[in-house]
Amino acid sequence: MTNNKYPFINIPLPYRYNALEPWIDTKTMMLHHDAHLQTYIDNLNALLESNPDLQQFTLTQLISIAPSLDEPLSTHLINNAGGVFNHRFFFNTISPNCNQVSCNELIMAITKQYGSLDDFKALFKAEALSVFGSGYTWLVKTIDGNLDIVTTPNQNTPDFSQNILILNLDVWEHAYYLKNYNKRAEYFENWWHVINWNAASHYYKYQ
Ligand code: MN
Repeated sequence: MTNNKYPFINIPLPYRYNALEPWIDTKTMMLHHDAHLQTYIDNLNALLESNPDLQQFTLTQLISIAPSLDEPLSTHLINNAGGVFNHRFFFNTISPNCNQVSCNELIMAITKQYGSLDDFKALFKAEALSVFGSGYTWLVKTIDGNLDIVTTPNQNTPDFSQNILILNLDVWEHAYYLKNYNKRAEYFENWWHVINWNAASHYYKYQ
C-alpha cells in the first residue's frame, strides 16, 4: 500500500466505480470512496497538521500508538487513522476479478480449520450480523498461526501485534444502505461474490 505517511491522499480505487455491479452499486462505491473515505483522509491530515510530531509515523504506526496518547487526541487518531486504514483494506480485498475460489493456501487453511468454505461463510456471516451499530468483521491469522473471525466497533482495527489481517467487511450502514436498505445479510451475500481471494491469500501468506 503506497502513501502510508502524512500527507495522506485518497488513492483511487483499483477498479471502476461500476465494476462491482450488480453486487455493489456504483453510487454506493462513489460515495463510500469519494465522500466517506475522503472525510477520514481530510480529518487525519488536519489532526496531523496540528500535531506535527506525529507526522513521521506510518498509518499502521499511528494506529498502534494511538491508544497510548492523551485524550481527545487518542480517540480522534483511532477513529481517523483507523478509518483510512480500514477502508483502504476493505476496497483492496474486493474486486471484479479474482473472485473465483481457487485452490490457494488461504482456502486450504480455511477448509482445514472450519471444515468447508460454506461453514466458514456461515460463521463469518453470523459475526457480521452480530455487530451492533457500526464496525467491521475481520478474518485474521493469530500469532499461533490459526485463523480467527473477529469484530471491531466503529473504526477500530485489530491489534497488529497479535493479528495478521486477511479480509475485512465494512458493516457500517453507509456501505450498503442505498442498495440493501437495512438488510445487512443481503449485503453480506453480495459482498461474498466480490471478495478478492487472491489479495486475501496474499495477506495470509506474506504478511
Ligand atoms: Mn465505510
